[in-house]
Amino acid sequence: MMKICSRCKKEKDYSEFHKSKSEKDGLSYRCKECQREVDRKYRTRRNAYAKIYYHEHKGDFLRRQTVSRQRMKKEILEHYSNGVARCAHCRGEDLVVLCLDHVNDDGAYHRRTLGIHGGYETYRRLKRDGFPEGYQVLCYNCNMRKHFELTKK
Ligand SMILES: [Zn+2]
Ligand SMILES: [Zn+2]
Repeated sequence: MMKICSRCKKEKDYSEFHKSKSEKDGLSYRCKECQREVDRKYRTRRNAYAKIYYHEHKGDFLRRQTVSRQRMKKEILEHYSNGVARCAHCRGEDLVVLCLDHVNDDGAYHRRTLGIHGGYETYRRLKRDGFPEGYQVLCYNCNMRKHFELTKK
């Protein structure tokens, strides 16, 4: 049994066509080969659209993420500063350089044991755990200095 493919106009055996319930002879109007090609084209086009969409909105995604992270960081630091977020040593208030320090522990060691890379995962965890004690706010300078002093011992 032969059928002509509506796309490539070649006459092919029934086995060269996919089954299709919507066609009256029960076979797709395109041969398998043409169907494969159409599928592939559709897929590349869809991927291209997704890529374009992502590129056009990438800025929005990242901005939104940064804003919510900054807000969370501020909230956590304000809690551990009992008010305005500031460094416990030099009293600096620049949020960009402020970070959280584990008071009695080596911060790097602590982060490693929790299996996180520090930063926002730590903040999220602290908030979830209801602000456990043992942390202080330090700026990067004072933090570096503390770790320098620790490793010197
Ligand atoms: Zn065909
Ligand atoms: Zn400081």
